[in-house]
Amino acid sequence: MSHPHPELAAPPQLPEGGLRVIPLGGLGEIGRNMTVFEYDGRLLIVDCGVLFPEDHHPGVDLILPDFAAIRDRLDDVEALVLTHGHEDHIGATPYLLRERQDIPLVGSQLTLALLDAKLREHRLRETVHHQVKEGDTLTLGPFELEFVAVNHSIPDALAIAIRTGAGLVLHTGDFKMDQLPLDSRITDLRAFARLGEEGVDLFLTDSTNAETPGFTPTEKSITPVINEVFRESKQRIIVACFASHIHRVQQVLDAAVEHNRKVAYVGRSMVRNMAIARDLGYLTVPPGVMVEAKELASLPPERQVLVSTGSQGEPMAALSRIAQRNHHFVHIEEGDTVLLASSLIPGNENAVYRVINGLSRWGANVVHKGNAHVHVSGHASAGELLYCYNIVKPRNVLPVHGEIRHMLANAALARQVGIENVVVAEDGVVVDLVDGVASIVGKVECGYVFVDGSSVGDITESDLKDRRILGEEGFLSIIVVVDSVTGKVSAGPEIHARGNALEGESFDDVKAMVTKALDQAIADGNTDAYQLQQTVRRTVGRWVSNTHRRRPMIIPVVVEA
Ligand SMILES: [Zn+2]
Ligand SMILES: [Zn+2]
Repeated sequence: MSHPHPELAAPPQLPEGGLRVIPLGGLGEIGRNMTVFEYDGRLLIVDCGVLFPEDHHPGVDLILPDFAAIRDRLDDVEALVLTHGHEDHIGATPYLLRERQDIPLVGSQLTLALLDAKLREHRLRETVHHQVKEGDTLTLGPFELEFVAVNHSIPDALAIAIRTGAGLVLHTGDFKMDQLPLDSRITDLRAFARLGEEGVDLFLTDSTNAETPGFTPTEKSITPVINEVFRESKQRIIVACFASHIHRVQQVLDAAVEHNRKVAYVGRSMVRNMAIARDLGYLTVPPGVMVEAKELASLPPERQVLVSTGSQGEPMAALSRIAQRNHHFVHIEEGDTVLLASSLIPGNENAVYRVINGLSRWGANVVHKGNAHVHVSGHASAGELLYCYNIVKPRNVLPVHGEIRHMLANAALARQVGIENVVVAEDGVVVDLVDGVASIVGKVECGYVFVDGSSVGDITESDLKDRRILGEEGFLSIIVVVDSVTGKVSAGPEIHARGNALEGESFDDVKAMVTKALDQAIADGNTDAYQLQQTVRRTVGRWVSNTHRRRPMIIPVVVEA
């Protein structure tokens, strides 16, 4: 990522009594949320999530926040506070704990339970937990924390108030203001107002839906649509949604009971998360409604419901396999109904429409956000944000959680209600709160950290550029042997092409050009293997560009013998 603030230098020393905010992810993208607060030499981290790769990150499994800025200060970390259990907030925690395993983890019951399952998969067992709930306070070093209930698309989400000598910070986490949520746990605006009365010096607010006017509709508004789908469907129903969307699954379970169907989960994360949610009481499973997936197949199709992962078109998830008809036990049939009860995260459009096309091709009736009201967002729209600004009346605002366009829209809302000091900062841009005023003071290193299989951070942007070139243009390899005594080409050039239309070419003319260029270079005194390879690269590159209008990766190998 090229840094948006080339003019900024490393931040100066934090003035005594000041609070520093260092966003390491999530400001400038939807994902990998991580913010570090520094006060009196101690650090508090809020969230540690992952970003999912897009088409221009070939082969990348996950993208992490960049820990470089705090890597040599991990002993100063008081705790990692997790606002809720979404992957973009907890997903990178195992990678942080690999660097210091005893960082205390603070979060609500459900958040910590979902995190624990993840930590076990990473074989991290000896971790330190502080379970909290709304209304609780917790003092960690110089940070006094208070937790506030917020409503979101996962239960048990928390906003966090952080009190230090520099003032009061309120971080909303991800939130919306559904007034009729399934679990009756609304965003605690009374607490927001109380904190506002006390005086919020810095308000960090969720920008995701700042461009969307009005109010996010209530989760219950999709109930009639789900019921209609169940009523109309004569065959099997497959519902795909996020494996963490417990309330969405609750609605499906309730509809299944009402329409005399049985439900099975498909997909490892769905099975795991719903078991956690049921055991902890966040999901109410009506008796007799659940069956094992294999058992479901023995029922008539009009009694079957599958709740599956893969609503974002993830290639390895159940729904993609079903769409390609290579799922090991779910075979899509003509007349089946597939309900995609989820948002479409930017960047996933192609993958999702590929899945919808695949399912439609087999004759399934696909109901999705584009043709029915089957999804509501988990984030506050512009109207809700205005409400919050008016209730909290903060001195300074720092929009978080969004692409730059979302954060700028959020900043504009804050200014509309008369908040004068609104700071828009992207990842790595350091904001200090000193004497009640927040301002940008510098920047820290903050790149993308790519996870590829078992490697973390070894794959660089330039590797990805290579992969993109390979993916789009294939490669040409040229092997030449140069006689170190005579200084003449003694074997080759041998040219091989893969992944492009050059396969099967004779390459006779370019071979002659390479030999000539090498002879000339050696005659000019360039005998170093690296220089000779560059000569080969340039010669072949010019030829392939001029004659074929292509730019494949060129791999020259010059061997001296
Ligand atoms: Zn979230
Ligand atoms: Zn989020």
